[in-house]
Amino acid sequence: MSMELKLYDTLTREKRPFRPIDPANVRMYVCGPTVYDYAHIGNARPVIVFDVLFRLLRHIYGDAHVTYVRNITDVDDKINARAAERNVSIRALTEQTYANFKADVTALGCLPPTVEPRATEHIEEMKTLIEMLVKNGCAYVAEGHVLFHVAAMKDYGKLSNRSLDEMLAGARVEVAPYKKDAMDFVLWKPSKEGEPAWPSPCGIAAPGRPGWHIECSAMSWKHLGKTFDIHGGGIDLVFPHHENEIAQSRCAFHAPVMANYWMHNGFLQVEGEKMSKSLGNSVTIHELLKDWPGEVVRLTMLQTHYRQPLNWTANGMREAQKNLDHWYELTAGVESGMFCADLLDALADDLNTPKALAALHELRNEAAKGAKPAAACLKASAQLIGLLERPAAEWSSWRPVSFALDEDKVVDLIERRTAARKAKDFKESDRIRDELAKMGVVLKDSKDGTTWEIAR
Ligand code: AMP
Ligand code: ZN
Repeated sequence: MSMELKLYDTLTREKRPFRPIDPANVRMYVCGPTVYDYAHIGNARPVIVFDVLFRLLRHIYGDAHVTYVRNITDVDDKINARAAERNVSIRALTEQTYANFKADVTALGCLPPTVEPRATEHIEEMKTLIEMLVKNGCAYVAEGHVLFHVAAMKDYGKLSNRSLDEMLAGARVEVAPYKKDAMDFVLWKPSKEGEPAWPSPCGIAAPGRPGWHIECSAMSWKHLGKTFDIHGGGIDLVFPHHENEIAQSRCAFHAPVMANYWMHNGFLQVEGEKMSKSLGNSVTIHELLKDWPGEVVRLTMLQTHYRQPLNWTANGMREAQKNLDHWYELTAGVESGMFCADLLDALADDLNTPKALAALHELRNEAAKGAKPAAACLKASAQLIGLLERPAAEWSSWRPVSFALDEDKVVDLIERRTAARKAKDFKESDRIRDELAKMGVVLKDSKDGTTWEIAR
């Protein structure tokens, strides 16, 4: 059975069959984090969505035939500001933030991409691109800056499909006196004292640093070539970031396209509200992982189709946790079996994860009736999307970090309660049971003695 993968392409605004340029090397680029602070739960969405696509592509084309590049933006004004604020070096800040990001997304069950290039290690490629653009008349030097001249590209704006007025408003463009046109954007800019700086291209004497958009054109070129299959990121990146990446890469290489499929995940809101620092509802992955297993976060994310807006709720996570409890229980000790055809079909239809999860619920129902092949199929199929990958014992012994439980104390209290019960001092034994309950410990008495577990 050959499965036909269809993907929605933001550029052509249609769902199309996916045809890789080279099936022996399917190439995908996704814009990664700007590493100045802990990633929030919104940032986790593209990471998880494109991990599912990466896994699906590996399933279809073979693990060795997919190259997934997710960059690290480690040069940015927000990074400079944060490093200055904390009085640490930029490198120390970006290293630590990146290590935190890796730990977070690993806990969310995401595979490492094939390549994770750092912007600061691709300055030469950026300069080469910039010089190519100046040479062919698509960019110009002005007061220590290099600017891309938007008017030099006929079909600029196709990805976001906006009028020039809308673009002007959306980009919050800086109207600088050295710009030929307000829409022209920065490829290279001068660095002030204390800011990261490299020798400038195009004969500019003062040192400078790259603009954000050129980073991705340079890193995708280096690792995937001039034209590749899939480019992804959050919907907020369509304009101006991806529009500008397309302009840079197509104009530098005289290429008709940069990538054949442009994929964008919808935005995530928290309990129905836009996530923002001022509302105080911005949740970092790091904080969330203290209270919930990463797998719960992953499953919660997949309950909504990637192109839809996603409303993040505690209820959604409780629901996901219940499902995982049940799935782990049914698949404990079971060997992975066949992949579920309904799940594969759903994923092949532009990553329809809610439908794929419905297929897992069907299998769950079968497995709960005692069907062994259904349990084996549930396990294999869930693993295909990065779930049920841990041993069942690890799942059931997971404890929230915020739940700092003193186990010696628990054992001691249980012994004292057992002694009180033997002495028929039920008032004391009940008091101890209540004390343990307050600590979140539930007791189970049986003829063999008392066992305890954490209340969920
Ligand atoms: P940033 O570090 O802000 O450049 O964002 C990294 C990635 O997270 C980009 O692909 C963004 O589009 C994505 N992103 C940021 N905020 C959200 C959100 N609230 N919902 C979904 N994706 C987001
Ligand atoms: Zn990018």
